Amino acid sequence: MSIIFWLRQDLRLLDNTALQYARQKSSDVHFLYIFEETHEDDLSTKGAASQWFLSRALRSFQKNIEDLGGTLLIEKGDPLSILDSVAKKTRSQTICWNRRYDPYNVRKDQKIKQTLQEKGIEVKSFKGSVLFEPWEILNQKGEPFKVFTPFWRHCLAKNFAYTPYLSPSSLKKSSIALHHAHKKDAVDFSYDPFWSKNFSKVWEDTPFNVSEQGAHERLDFFLQNHVKDYQKTRDFPALESTSKLSPYLHLGMISPDFIMHRCYQLLSIDSAYAEGIHCFLSEIGWREFSSYLLYHYPDLPTSPLRKEFLSMPWEDNPSFFDAWKKGQTGYPIVDAGMRQLWQEGWMHNRVRMIVASFLIKDLFMDWRKGERWFFDTLVDADLASNSASWQWVAGCGADAAPYFRVFNPTLQGEKFDPEGHYIKRYVPELSLMPVRFIHDPSKAPHSILQKASVVLGKKYPYPIVDHKMCRQKALEMFKNLRGK
Ligand SMILES: Cc1cc2nc3c(=O)[nH]c(=O)nc-3n(C[C@H](O)[C@H](O)[C@H](O)COP(=O)(O)OP(=O)(O)OC[C@H]3O[C@@H](n4cnc5c(N)ncnc54)[C@H](O)[C@@H]3O)c2cc1C
Repeated sequence: MSIIFWLRQDLRLLDNTALQYARQKSSDVHFLYIFEETHEDDLSTKGAASQWFLSRALRSFQKNIEDLGGTLLIEKGDPLSILDSVAKKTRSQTICWNRRYDPYNVRKDQKIKQTLQEKGIEVKSFKGSVLFEPWEILNQKGEPFKVFTPFWRHCLAKNFAYTPYLSPSSLKKSSIALHHAHKKDAVDFSYDPFWSKNFSKVWEDTPFNVSEQGAHERLDFFLQNHVKDYQKTRDFPALESTSKLSPYLHLGMISPDFIMHRCYQLLSIDSAYAEGIHCFLSEIGWREFSSYLLYHYPDLPTSPLRKEFLSMPWEDNPSFFDAWKKGQTGYPIVDAGMRQLWQEGWMHNRVRMIVASFLIKDLFMDWRKGERWFFDTLVDADLASNSASWQWVAGCGADAAPYFRVFNPTLQGEKFDPEGHYIKRYVPELSLMPVRFIHDPSKAPHSILQKASVVLGKKYPYPIVDHKMCRQKALEMFKNLRGK
């Protein structure tokens, strides 16, 4: 009897629980991916940049399956009717999948499961791309954690049982593959938003392409070259010393369990890695915590966890928002970050914090506007990590940065990009600026600007706001809120 394996955010052959189950149950496994109809309530619907990444990931996954002799069926439409129809065509009695945890899809999957079961189809679901099921991690009162440190301590104390399910060495061609091969309306899932022409330089024309193998090669490269010093180097964007695994993790092209397993393996061989590995794993922990928060607090993307923030008098200044999006704020580290995002679909974590703080605490814009812009332009856009991080920076989330922590973009630049290499890479009009003024060109004397060929207000903007004044205003606004 054949079985359907419905893939969603688990585009991998290695360490895939639902796939393991399917293969144990039957030698005739139908791999199925569905481009689901979008719905306005579904905030997890992919943004443009992450669709770009998905189209590549799916293509390489399809090839991996075909290389093993199997088939990946790709459909578009309502998942329930597609699952029902594929089950009929293939005479499958069972459908299995790995779970998703965002509120919209939790509800949707429950409904699909119930309806299929009512039709007599067996449905099996398994832990998705997280380390632990969110309902397994609760505090002593049996309630969800709201603070990261005790949450992560609790996770680490759990018995981490990694069961490495190996990739299959061969697969059987799906019995409906031939029918699909001749279908004129095969789903065209190539996707290239108009600004994505440079994405390939970072994600494809490198030793690590957008594939399951690429994810593993990135992990190996990172563990060999960067993890040892991760704690010291991870905040310096010019060094490119982080793993860049985020888009792969988002699509489940590598599992967090596998990453944890490899880190522990390395640790058991050489304790010199301890500091770097624990620091790196705590970032994997933040990913886990974000997904956990979204599961337990489903309105995380739309509503502040600290409800006093509901009355925050956000301002709406379209020209400021536009300057922020285009990297034309006159604050070089902010501009470099926003341009990196536009050019590469990715931004370094430290710079994400700086640009988010600038939008919220210098331009007084609602964090949800920034969240939606990031969601459309990041190849790693992830509803949980994105909304939890934006809430964290705004100070309204779980375990958030304290309200009086207002990043000074100039000092942040000086501290984390001391030579200005990162800025010069993305803001070429400042490439001749001496280091002393690279973080605040508006302070440079006329002669220096002239020598560096920078005409403020023309070639590079004056700062659009005065940070000192904004900081004062932000502190007042946040203080007033807390008094409420
Ligand atoms: C405003 C803002 C928005 C963000 N939006 C997203 C998003 O949409 N998708 C996303 O994956 N990450 C998001 N992050 C978290 C973080 O910036 C990225 O995960 C990280 O920069 C990815 O680079 P990396 O893979 O090299 O990370 P590494 O430093 O190598 O970390 C390893 C992995 O840990 C996870 N991780 C690291 N930092 C965080 C964090 N602070 N929160 C949650 N997970 C983390 C990621 O999966 C990452 O791949 C956001 C952070 C901020 C401040």
